[in-house]
Amino acid sequence: MVKELNDIYLDGSATTPVREAVLKRIKEVESSYWGNPSSLHVHGLKACEQLERSRRSIAISLEAEESEIVFTSGATESNKLSLIGSTTRLTPGRIVISSVEHPSVISAANSMMEKGWDVAYWPVDKFGRVLLSEIDRLLSYPTKIVSIVWAQSEVGTIQPIEQIGKICKEKGIIFHTDATQILSQHKFNWRKLPVDLLSFSAHKFQGPKGVGVLLRRKTITNNQNLKEFSSGQEYGIRAGTQPVALIAGMALAIELLDSPINHPNLTHTSEYQRILTLTNKLRLDLKKISYISFTGHPIHRLSNHISLLVGNSNNQPISGRRLVRILSDNGVSVSSGTACSSGNYSDSAVLKAMNIPSEWRQSGLRLSLGNWLSEEQILKVPRILNETILSLS
Ligand code: PMP
Repeated sequence: MVKELNDIYLDGSATTPVREAVLKRIKEVESSYWGNPSSLHVHGLKACEQLERSRRSIAISLEAEESEIVFTSGATESNKLSLIGSTTRLTPGRIVISSVEHPSVISAANSMMEKGWDVAYWPVDKFGRVLLSEIDRLLSYPTKIVSIVWAQSEVGTIQPIEQIGKICKEKGIIFHTDATQILSQHKFNWRKLPVDLLSFSAHKFQGPKGVGVLLRRKTITNNQNLKEFSSGQEYGIRAGTQPVALIAGMALAIELLDSPINHPNLTHTSEYQRILTLTNKLRLDLKKISYISFTGHPIHRLSNHISLLVGNSNNQPISGRRLVRILSDNGVSVSSGTACSSGNYSDSAVLKAMNIPSEWRQSGLRLSLGNWLSEEQILKVPRILNETILSLS
């Protein structure tokens, strides 16, 4: 295979490159507002003012109240805080999570079992979408909290969270959604969402790593005592000195989600439309490669996301991890679905939940696009992938 000097980054669902304007803002804020926002002297007051400016900006962007925004280290922490924090003062009941959640939600739910909670997994169909036929069974006594990922990272499927949230609201069940993957594609209006608690991380939409948000309805805080989970900063919900500069970078990254981006190759008016068009074109071109099948929902899916199972010319599954390594050597960065824990690679739990046969569960591949990519780069991908598959056949 001919080696080319490509640098085609197709792993935006893992993380994204920080925008230049965001990097500049982080540097400026770190230089000028380096005080501890809890200090009472002038440096603290300046940092605190800057922190609150960022909170106001995010509140305006997402149509939330400033006091509904809790800064955290990212979605992992926001997820745990939502589930464990909102239930510490409740008498144990049932928590319902989907069978395709992020590990942070699964581990938080499992940790509640020690306190007498029952964990129920909401099954999904072959596209990874929760089965709505299970609503009556799962959203009934003794369910007290439900957590459903808005968009699944491995297969890109979008869940019907508004429908589920409305029923939870009617039944007085706390509803949390993990919005980590959706925000880069869909800037939501918090005021209109039937959701009590929502998590996200800044690095999935070209903000910095290590910072995120927990959005919470104050009714939950007041009635269910999320507040008493911790003490100190962030309304007593999340203790620890806030990273003022990273938060300012996150606020700007959220603001910029609206605006068309100044990309040299941009011909469309909207950044979103350009990525959607590129993703659709890539999907059509990949369709022509034998032994590739698409996973995830064909319609209810992230607009920048393609997920596949890859086989060789004998229609035998190819290891996704091997493909990732070889593609990387050829300048194409993608992700496989398999998770690594303590050096052991296991089948994808998400593909298992979708009833994909076990022999195919390590052959998943995910391509996730973003505005850093040009059309020229995307056009190269099908050929490089095809050659890589042939080299393994
Ligand atoms: N939830 C989802 C759906 C994710 O994709 C991720 C990141 N892969 C997380 C939570 C955790 O985000 P972080 O690592 O930034 O805490």
